[in-house]
Amino acid sequence: MFSIYIPTEFIFGSGALKQLSQLKLPGKKALIVTSKGKSIIKNGALGLLQEQLEKQEIGYTVFNEIEANPEKTTIMRGAEVARENSCDFVIGLGGGSPMDASKAIALMATNSGDLWDYCMRGTGKKLQPANKALPIVCITTTAGTGSEADASGMINNVQTNEKFGISGPSLFPTLSVIDPELMVSVPPLYSAYQGLDALFHLTEAYLSTKANFFNEMCAITGVEHIGKYLVRSIKNGNDLEAREHMAFANTMGGFVMSTGKLMSQHSLEHTLSAFHPDLPHGAGLVLICRAYFGLFIKKGVRKEKFIRLAKALGKQDTSQPEDFLTALDGLIKECGLDHIRMADWNIKEEELARIACETYKNFNDLFYNDPVLLTEEECVQIYQESFNR
Ligand SMILES: [Zn+2]
Repeated sequence: MFSIYIPTEFIFGSGALKQLSQLKLPGKKALIVTSKGKSIIKNGALGLLQEQLEKQEIGYTVFNEIEANPEKTTIMRGAEVARENSCDFVIGLGGGSPMDASKAIALMATNSGDLWDYCMRGTGKKLQPANKALPIVCITTTAGTGSEADASGMINNVQTNEKFGISGPSLFPTLSVIDPELMVSVPPLYSAYQGLDALFHLTEAYLSTKANFFNEMCAITGVEHIGKYLVRSIKNGNDLEAREHMAFANTMGGFVMSTGKLMSQHSLEHTLSAFHPDLPHGAGLVLICRAYFGLFIKKGVRKEKFIRLAKALGKQDTSQPEDFLTALDGLIKECGLDHIRMADWNIKEEELARIACETYKNFNDLFYNDPVLLTEEECVQIYQESFNR
């Protein structure tokens, strides 16, 4: 049994943002939530959005303070800016970070207290918000997080070293714009991190105990697109055809998260980047993926599915689950990420047991989606093996 609920209008295709002025938007005054830094101005996305809003005479305030791993204090400030400027909807413009942040800001613009009051894990107070979030529009400029198709946002609480998802049905975007033209300026390194993040959303959902006909279909299709087009999109960022396929794979990643569940690889990574906020999420996943999937393959679970995934990645002559690891290694190498190490982000071997303990204690819900339940010792083992990769 499964249910599908994604109440979002998706506009997909090159040039989609230029059509925004012809669409009905969910309010009259937007808070545009975007990243720190100048890339969103330089690549023209912010200017294009402003132009589209002005055509419809929709007012806006720009809040461009979002970090790579959005922080709770920034969310609270963003919500205050939304209230002060009487914004009646929120637009997340950029990659996963601003889109995730836009959801949390939309929630806190209409609810009192602190964001962590509505966090359901760790030190969160686990309260139900009294009010729905402001309507959310997501405009994705990267192909990675699938945030445009799900109802959750990852937020860092630096005071408590926690990084948790804030979620709820009112956090689904009402409209998502997926325009590959906005993605051509993403540098090769980030295209690689984001593309591999999308790959892991798809593979985890496919292998998890919560997989179903619908998200298996989305997952395999998404993995096939990544197998064919990720390297092309990295080697030539202007290859719009490759960008289009990667954008589609990424949105499929959002679909599988909304209709199924991720596995504990994401828990293991989120704790790592909660302790080391400079570590990009995609990089963290690349660091641990081999030890992680290798452990499940060693346990002999999901044999047919690993073979199917290897085939979807383009390895046709496959008959062993281990071929998935070979295909993964090959892809990571072609993406130029075979050389990255935990030490590059100052992660120390002696802190791995503590990080594993934290993951196991406070971020354990995804563990129940794994084909077999991992022990805390196995989490330490995954981190340790990954440290020495
Ligand atoms: Zn992810």
